[in-house]
Amino acid sequence: MSTPDLLLRIDGVERPGADGETFAVTDPFSGEEVARVAVATPADVDDAVTAARRAFDDRRWRGVPARERARVLNRAAGLLADRIDELAALETRQIGRPLREMRAQLRRLPEWLEYFGAVAQTAEGTVPDFGADHLNVVRRVPLGVAGLITPWNHPLLITMKKLSVALAAGNSVVLKPSELGPVVPALLVGLLEDAGLPAGVANVVHGFGAVTGRALSEHPGLAKVDVTGGTETGRAIAAHAGRSLIPVTAELGGKAPVVVFDDVDLDAAVGGALFASFVATGQTCVQGARVLVAASAYERFVEAFVARAGALRLGDPKDSATQIGPLVSEAQRAKAVEAVERAVEQGATVLTGGATPDDPALQRGWFYPPTVVGDISSSMDLWREEVFGPVAVVRPFVDEDDAVRLANDAQFGLAASVWTNDLGRALRVTERLDVGIVWVNDHHRIDPASPWGGFKDSGIGSENGLEAYRGYTKAQSVIMNSRPPGTDWFATSEDL
Ligand code: NAD
Repeated sequence: MSTPDLLLRIDGVERPGADGETFAVTDPFSGEEVARVAVATPADVDDAVTAARRAFDDRRWRGVPARERARVLNRAAGLLADRIDELAALETRQIGRPLREMRAQLRRLPEWLEYFGAVAQTAEGTVPDFGADHLNVVRRVPLGVAGLITPWNHPLLITMKKLSVALAAGNSVVLKPSELGPVVPALLVGLLEDAGLPAGVANVVHGFGAVTGRALSEHPGLAKVDVTGGTETGRAIAAHAGRSLIPVTAELGGKAPVVVFDDVDLDAAVGGALFASFVATGQTCVQGARVLVAASAYERFVEAFVARAGALRLGDPKDSATQIGPLVSEAQRAKAVEAVERAVEQGATVLTGGATPDDPALQRGWFYPPTVVGDISSSMDLWREEVFGPVAVVRPFVDEDDAVRLANDAQFGLAASVWTNDLGRALRVTERLDVGIVWVNDHHRIDPASPWGGFKDSGIGSENGLEAYRGYTKAQSVIMNSRPPGTDWFATSEDL
């Protein structure tokens, strides 16, 4: 046992786990230890939920008017904005994502606190007309304690998506960040307390899914579980939560199609597809893993796409010239290696990449090059299964119907992009795609006001926007009669 530098935060107090265990977060590029982290036992999780419940019941946060809650969130947005460079560097150290991408992502995160602070002040109450004597309002009331379980791939972004709306709506929370990237999410909670969030409203427990995550997701004291992770994790968590009848929001896996029609500027579409497939070293849920191209443009597109994918610069993620960092772990790289090897056994062809680099400078760190695979058919595992790495398949389609059929040929339904200059085609095709998020001539754009959620096996419910706010509140109908005692039902013989 060694002294952890990242502790649990329960009721505003930092402390080690009950049995003193710790684990290490390591830099996937250098292999150095970034932090030693305290593990929360089920008893610690119980303490965290109890603290959050106490904070909810004594109304120290939910009883604060929405405009005051918004003030705290806005203050936290300012504190966060002041620390973007420092936090982006830490994110890069813990997950290996190139620093230039991390900075771009983190710069936008204060917007979530500002947006949901504003929503909480304006979204409450609709007033259906019930006659002049009655007031009929729908109040949105917070749920209680929410358990937030997050992945490693966008550690702060995904924590922010859940925390901002949960807190703006007046809930208390227990956060369990991923064991691979817990450092920056935990700092965010400290920063919210610095901005005025009362202690006990947001609690943090660390540890692995099978013990800490499980103890949280089956805790009967929760009013909601909100998870982002793999589809199998989502199923397991929904099963745990189901035993206590706890509602679940789940943002799960994907295998997004990038559908390129032949009416676009092909160079621009190649650039867009490269971004879709290889941003975050392919480790993102909306990764453009299936690039579908009109047969008439297929050869030209693939030639340019493969050439540019093969020329992307791998290296130290802290170096601003690096475009592709290491994968987050040995296991994640092994998964990519195995997926591509299996595809080749099943008859596919590697067009670029497909082997761990032999460059001596890339032996440290879990590097895998941008890989493009052709000769793909629908029965192949690489067509169906999420790799979560820099691996994309390319496949031609003959017409619009064929493009839609191939794009929808997946268990997942998270996101898609359509590349066309034909407005009618854009409207027709997007409407037929069975996905929760669809971009036209763009990919991976995100905004706190735009709902983010998957169809099919990609999830349940939504983050962002009014959808998320509804998901963190319950509707309470309040029907008030201004003429007490109202109709004396049993004293009248008139028609009622
Ligand atoms: P993961 O499923 O391994 O872990 C996610 C979180 O769940 C972690 O905190 C983990 O400790 C916890 N967990 C795991 N098993 C659990 C269990 N049985 N009970 C309770 N908690 C458990 O996912 P990951 O590797 O961290 O992230 C990658 C996955 O997340 C990919 O599949 C990706 O597509 C998905 N993802 C989805 C979105 C989205 O918005 N839909 C966004 C990012 C990532």
